[in-house]
Amino acid sequence: MMERADLVPQEARADLVLQEALKRKPKHGTPCNGCGACCMVTRCGLAQHVFSLGEFGRCPALTQTSATTYGCGLVLDPRKYVPARAASKGVAALRQAAAFLIGSGNGCDAGRAGEWRDKAYAAALEARGRSAENVKARRRAKLLWGASK
Ligand code: SF4
Ligand code: SF4
Repeated sequence: MMERADLVPQEARADLVLQEALKRKPKHGTPCNGCGACCMVTRCGLAQHVFSLGEFGRCPALTQTSATTYGCGLVLDPRKYVPARAASKGVAALRQAAAFLIGSGNGCDAGRAGEWRDKAYAAALEARGRSAENVKARRRAKLLWGASK
């Protein structure tokens, strides 16, 4: 028998899922809770590179980790998306580089239009991103993932 959820068009279901995630989204600048809202609507630079997709839209690597949480598939299991690269560069190295490139541990830097923004947090994050050490680490992480820009 067809499940009730199957009767809801896929787009409407995706919208419902997004609305639920947005309800769980924490304030800008506070710890990430894995709500997944950011990656349901935009793709980070790493995702754009790996999947040859544009910035807007759901990321193919977004992975549901519990009823209410999501994780980044490129961090969780790079073998699934780039098996050849994982074999040549090593899974642990790719996971670590992906976590760095997506800003894992930086807190929730996603913000909807009109949403309150923590300016001090954003400025500190930007300054850290500009540091020579960070620039070098970013270059190394991108090279590992085969991204030139
Ligand atoms: S960065 Fe923010 S919007 Fe994205 S998953 Fe984490 S808490 Fe949710
Ligand atoms: S690669 Fe990971 S962090 Fe980037 S958009 Fe996709 S799920 Fe989100």
